[in-house]
Amino acid sequence: MPEPRVAIITGAASGIGRALAVHYAGLGVRSIIGSFSGDPHDPQETLRLVQAAGGEAVVHEVDVRSTASVDAFAQRAVDEYGRLDYAVANAGILRNSSLTEMTDARWTDMLDVDLTGVLRTLRAAADRMTEGGAMVATSSIAGGVYGWQGHAHYAAAKAGVLGLIRSVAVELGPQGIRVNAVIPGLIETPQSLDPVNSLGPDGLAQAGKDIPWGRVGTPAEVASVIAFLTSADAGYVTGQSLIVDGGLTVK
Ligand code: NAD
Repeated sequence: MPEPRVAIITGAASGIGRALAVHYAGLGVRSIIGSFSGDPHDPQETLRLVQAAGGEAVVHEVDVRSTASVDAFAQRAVDEYGRLDYAVANAGILRNSSLTEMTDARWTDMLDVDLTGVLRTLRAAADRMTEGGAMVATSSIAGGVYGWQGHAHYAAAKAGVLGLIRSVAVELGPQGIRVNAVIPGLIETPQSLDPVNSLGPDGLAQAGKDIPWGRVGTPAEVASVIAFLTSADAGYVTGQSLIVDGGLTVK
């Protein structure tokens, strides 16, 4: 009987990260649920859902703006379960700002979480990962193929993620570690439901009508793709970015 796989997931107290922890539970993958003290999401609810799905997980507070915090988060997988197989750099923020209102601080804060936070997570995982491991970072269509007014800093960070994973994939290939990205379109999560920084409930419902699939996506629909990318089924896939958007960007 092979040992159960172990994953670290940042931003797992809500949205896509939460859905991934629950999806992993169904696959027998144990998760370290990354929660962030700076926002209202309840990581215990993620843990409850994981356990209801018959899975095993622990909650660990992590701030991806801190190297020490991220290193301790990755180490928790080794301390708790003796191994680290999958790292999912999923934490992210979205802040509305026009170009002329874009102070250096707004720019830097965004990149610190949405780009450097990914670097910190992949780097901490690489040091501890078992051979045959896999990493996935969450980018966005705004970072690849879709211009979005008021979100230049977010778009730049998410585009940076796409460059980052390609080069890290080349570097870690010889160690038997694969590195990919998922590129979600419009997904109904606390981030997109925020009416100040994103579309809000009404805007999302309206936007869904223009998507070929006829609606916005669910967190579970992204989580299952991340799980695929970390699984042996994607064993020859590395340095790639997979769009999950119901056809929005091919319309
Ligand atoms: P979400 O707000 O539910 O999840 C983001 C998570 O990141 C939250 O749990 C939050 O606590 C965490 N986080 C924020 N700052 C952090 C920090 N400094 N340290 C650690 N954790 C921190 O929204 P989501 O949509 O599930 O977002 C997950 C990822 O998907 C993000 O990277 C987001 O940019 C990306 N994304 C979302 C959409 C969408 O439509 N929802 C589209 C494209 C990409």
